[in-house]
Amino acid sequence: MKPLTEKELRKLSVILETEVDGLRRLCDNDLINIPNSRNLLIKSDFEANLSNDRLTRGSIVHALMNEYDASRSKIEAVIYGKTLNKKEICKICGEDMSRYKYHKFNGVCDNCIAKSIKL
Ligand SMILES: [Zn+2]
Repeated sequence: MKPLTEKELRKLSVILETEVDGLRRLCDNDLINIPNSRNLLIKSDFEANLSNDRLTRGSIVHALMNEYDASRSKIEAVIYGKTLNKKEICKICGEDMSRYKYHKFNGVCDNCIAKSIKL
């Protein structure tokens, strides 16, 4: 994950009503969650431009794809609040598991598979 740029830090400081220098120190010490920060910027940029009648949603999404070097599906997931890695639930114990594992292991989580192993 590439670090936040100066431009991103400045925008984030406005959104969070905090000092850029303070944010930069948090970043330098790895105390900022960069993906979440970038998602916040994407949402904020989207909403800020939505009120501009000359822009369509599609054109804003395209601009965001360029600005954040992200795919359309990623941008849409962020602005429309869809989760990219949708969770599934284990058929046996009800724990969360990734969709990938759910389909690969017939809806049974690691723990439940482990319990079925006879040693
Ligand atoms: Zn389970």
